[in-house]
Amino acid sequence: AKAWHLVSRPQGLPTIDNFALRDLPDAPLDHNQLRVRNRWLSVDPYMRGRMNDAKSYTASFQIDQPMTGGAIGEVVESRMEGFAPGDLILHMGGWRDGGIIGLDMSPFKLPDEALATGMAPQTFLHNMGLTGGTAWIGLLRIAAARPGDTVFVSAAAGAVGSAVVQIAKAREMAVIGSAGGAEKCAWVKSLGADAVVDYKARPVLAGLSEALESLGKPGIDVYFDNVGGEHLDAAFATANDFARFAICGMIDVYNDGHPQEMKYLIRAIPARIRMEGFIYTDQFFECMEEFYADMGGLIASGAVTMRETVHDGLEATPDAFLGLFSGQNIGKMLVRV
Ligand code: NDP
Repeated sequence: AKAWHLVSRPQGLPTIDNFALRDLPDAPLDHNQLRVRNRWLSVDPYMRGRMNDAKSYTASFQIDQPMTGGAIGEVVESRMEGFAPGDLILHMGGWRDGGIIGLDMSPFKLPDEALATGMAPQTFLHNMGLTGGTAWIGLLRIAAARPGDTVFVSAAAGAVGSAVVQIAKAREMAVIGSAGGAEKCAWVKSLGADAVVDYKARPVLAGLSEALESLGKPGIDVYFDNVGGEHLDAAFATANDFARFAICGMIDVYNDGHPQEMKYLIRAIPARIRMEGFIYTDQFFECMEEFYADMGGLIASGAVTMRETVHDGLEATPDAFLGLFSGQNIGKMLVRV
């Protein structure tokens, strides 16, 4: 098996030279190990933070070590109780085409009931996994969004954002989504968003104000932040009293680390804005059953759908990852091994 290794720490936007594809050592399995063949790899913006040598909520990638991340694989050999050859598993041994997986890679057998409905296995890397779970927890638990709320979500054509749009519509909220470019905005609209803002065509605040006016809404009750920067500032500018901001991500600053000036931050006081950053794993396990039941139902009814942008072959993994920062994905960015 082969795996992508981090060979140097990126300064700013990573380049292909930060990564190298190398062989993994092979060995007979020990107790509590699986041998897997990976089918799908996830690339996610949070992995950029793991490339820095800085303390965060996930451990840094080590230089000259294989990188990790979400993956769907098929078990080919098992010395772990509860796993048999042929099982499809979700695990953290991504950025590789397969190899040995131990308990440290959190293997999880995909539920037979879900697969029996015809659900594609890679759904557990998006709507039934990290990105869908993040959308669901952030919108419903962190922002406590309710029917009738006006919700603004940035990166709305991405994996998390597109799930937020659809969950909010299924809960009878008004939704404004922002995305870069006409094609993405049209897709966000087709998911049910009441209005869209093309942030590449005009300033976010101008687009958001116009969208609110067209919907006859005085301001936003909820902001689901995936981007930070100008988007977050526009949310401060347009927030209704007691608005809730779920701070999920700030991809606009992942590569330079310096948020831009917030001209409207002071509105947090008169509008009594509650702002909460969150990490999906903090809450996922305690609400997993409720999430699977609710999201599974929304997917089965067609209320929540997913578009995938797929790169083929392990070799393409760094390109897929880098594409997240230039918006090359619509829906979830994936690698098919
Ligand atoms: P996406 O599928 O949304 O992909 C990233 C998208 O971000 C791109 O397609 C691009 O869309 C947009 N983007 C990139 N750079 C910029 C920029 N400078 N300004 C505005 N938009 C930009 O990724 P995910 O759905 O996986 O993640 C979305 C966010 O959620 C990220 O910030 C991520 O870190 C965060 N996250 C947080 C988690 C948590 O537990 N807190 C868990 C999972 C994700 P466009 O073409 O529209 O610009």
